[in-house]
Amino acid sequence: MTASFRNPALIGGALMLAIGCAATPAAAPALQAPAAQEGPPLVVLMVIDQLPASALDHFGPAFDGGLRRLMDEGLTYRNATHDHAVTETAPGHATIATGTEPATHGVPSNDWWERIDGQMRSVLNVIDAGAPLIEDESLPGASPEVLRRSTLAEWMQDANDDTRVVSVSGKPRGAVLLAGHAEDAHVYWFDEIVGRFVSSEFYRGRYPGWVTDFNDEDVAALAADSVWELTVPEVHRSLARPDSFPWEGDAVHTAFPHAFTDGSEESAVDPSFWVWLAGTPTIDQATLDLARLAVVEQELGEDEVPDLLAVSLSQTDRVGHGYGPRSLEQLDNLMRLDRELEEFFGWLDDRFGEGGYLVAWTSDHGVLDMPEVRFAEGLPGLRLTQQSVAPLQEILDRVGGMADIEERAEALAEAVPEVSWIDRAWTHAELEAATAPQDSFMQLHRAGYVPDRMAGILSRAGIELQFNEGVLSWAYPVGTGHGSPYYYDRHVPMGFYGWGVAAGSRDERVSVADLAPTVAQLLGIDMPDDLDGVVREVR
Ligand SMILES: [Zn+2]
Repeated sequence: MTASFRNPALIGGALMLAIGCAATPAAAPALQAPAAQEGPPLVVLMVIDQLPASALDHFGPAFDGGLRRLMDEGLTYRNATHDHAVTETAPGHATIATGTEPATHGVPSNDWWERIDGQMRSVLNVIDAGAPLIEDESLPGASPEVLRRSTLAEWMQDANDDTRVVSVSGKPRGAVLLAGHAEDAHVYWFDEIVGRFVSSEFYRGRYPGWVTDFNDEDVAALAADSVWELTVPEVHRSLARPDSFPWEGDAVHTAFPHAFTDGSEESAVDPSFWVWLAGTPTIDQATLDLARLAVVEQELGEDEVPDLLAVSLSQTDRVGHGYGPRSLEQLDNLMRLDRELEEFFGWLDDRFGEGGYLVAWTSDHGVLDMPEVRFAEGLPGLRLTQQSVAPLQEILDRVGGMADIEERAEALAEAVPEVSWIDRAWTHAELEAATAPQDSFMQLHRAGYVPDRMAGILSRAGIELQFNEGVLSWAYPVGTGHGSPYYYDRHVPMGFYGWGVAAGSRDERVSVADLAPTVAQLLGIDMPDDLDGVVREVR
């Protein structure tokens, strides 16, 4: 079921044109002088991966646990958006952590091409062969090397040397980008190859005993009970669309209960057990269990210096890709998360008192509903196929041979809107020009554009594309995705709960880049003075 998640950019490879580029990383600005102030003992920076704001509207009546607590007892900004065009996990997390857009933090997408040591190389966000997994040097680990800005975690450490940082996630980019370059951070993510929470040699040379024991005992126990049963009570099931749908999962196993199969039958995918398990709610449960253990083992919140616990919960994304945002599977996943978060917050209440810790939460991006669901509802919806990509290839064959690079980019930008599912294109020269943007979409592309990191399918040809609304931007026969500048991909919840926060809900337009500076202001610590985000009210 997770194959769609693991094979995103299927139309890109055939369309690439080799073209050079210059690498000039922007220097991060210096931080101001530290200021020691009183704050909560613990800040929980929580990201729910792929949570469109509409999910809270559609499924809200089913929540009575931790998500309900955040919505009713915290402060929620109902009109928060990611203000960059490529709405993917890595740029989203980097924006949340740094208070800047990709043009500034340098992470344009989940993957890109970059000239490194004189050679064009494919970069997969934080994955870093130079930082292998601890105790398993055959596998690449991860590091924050690609991130060009400092994070909230680093601002907290600059203000207080003793601030401890722990970051856990179901994905490497979820864990690594929220911690950034924080000193002595404990950063762990679930690895689908080895079936354990792992870290890399960038962070430390060996695992602490508590992580090893957690993998050996707790993860093994969770994995043993691996059938994903439906837990949505009858009364709430109509909040989701009917269970079985031909474009879900592997196109064969589309209804509850979901159990691991070896991929025989006519299944579109052949997953290993761990890849399969990583597509179920189990991994979020394990991530929150590990977070609690880390609070105890690292003694987070036990002195007067605020510590940071970053938690990126990945399963909403994986379930959303596999089954769609309105599926019964996603409702079940979110109801489970709602219950697990209530347990998690209840545990934090016991430790720090109710309202005694600060939670800042949001999502890294929204999602496009299944194109077929949208189409049936009268909305534009298109799933790309090799056939629909063919006209783009024809244009590339026609124009791609032009010798002058800039002329070729201009010719391509003019020609590609001939393709029925492409809205328009901008040349890099247009994105780099100091002129006012033609419209808000161009501004979103500028905010996401990193000149030396070519992320779009035609970036190496010098242009950035915008597909039509409702186009699923990968050619895969099942599932759905995100990554566009349209509202469904950009509009996410953003909220604060607990220490120093007054309950309520606000409707003004805000950016997810505002989250980190707002937390910094609440803590009374300094932050860089050139952030894209601004401080928002929480009282
Ligand atoms: Zn995703």
